[in-house]
Amino acid sequence: MSTLPHSGHDYPHLLGRWKEVCHTSGLRCETICEIGELPVVKVENAAAAAGDPGGLYVSAGVHGDECAPVWALLDWVASAPLILREKPVVLFPCLNPAGLIENTRHDGLGIDLNRSFADTSHPVIAAWQQTVAGRRFEASVHLHEDYDATGIYLYELTRTKSRGDQLLFACEPHLTRDPASIIDGSDFESGLFVRTTGIEQIVEEQLGGGYPEAILLFLKHAEVSYTFETPSEADLPRRIATHRAFLEAVAEGLVGPFQRGLGSLRV
Ligand SMILES: [Zn+2]
Repeated sequence: MSTLPHSGHDYPHLLGRWKEVCHTSGLRCETICEIGELPVVKVENAAAAAGDPGGLYVSAGVHGDECAPVWALLDWVASAPLILREKPVVLFPCLNPAGLIENTRHDGLGIDLNRSFADTSHPVIAAWQQTVAGRRFEASVHLHEDYDATGIYLYELTRTKSRGDQLLFACEPHLTRDPASIIDGSDFESGLFVRTTGIEQIVEEQLGGGYPEAILLFLKHAEVSYTFETPSEADLPRRIATHRAFLEAVAEGLVGPFQRGLGSLRV
């Protein structure tokens, strides 16, 4: 398949498909706010809705000109991955619907949402902050694309042993790693950037004080935060397959036999 059977920027179609998938898989789909009459939705399983701690957070479509992640997240969930039955899972299928429709990085207000996650004057961020308040996740995943990239790469913010290399390896049957040693001003090695400390310093020195979603999640809500990027000039179905492989690899790490054993010891 060289193209999708519909536009990668067809938000009504995306929402319709999510409603079908939620209906067949028992997931809950909730509108957290409307922006310019477009609903922004959250999808979660019963464990997440009950407020169980841990599990996985995934978001896509924060930048509207990066469309592979939104379809990959839908595809992955439609495949009924084991984690949906084993752990709390919270998903934001598309946080910037106007941007997706218009094929722009910024939202309908001209704002880069991914520098605004601490700004509760923004209606989407205010609604989003309410939904994640008090939650703790084992991992958060933020799916993005980069039109300057020549391969895949990953920012990993972690308090535990790095799994980044393994995760990138799982994606390599679809797209190879970006060989650059500096990407967007950060030092990378084989497509991987790992950081545990000094995160606030990155916000101040490189991002002008604006908080990306991944950094806010890591500082307040997640043990590990992954921002995964594909080159947006590559073939769309391959980019979708790559994001899906990344999600499968992250989820496998959370529900493998060892992790299930630990889960059963929970008191
Ligand atoms: Zn992006």
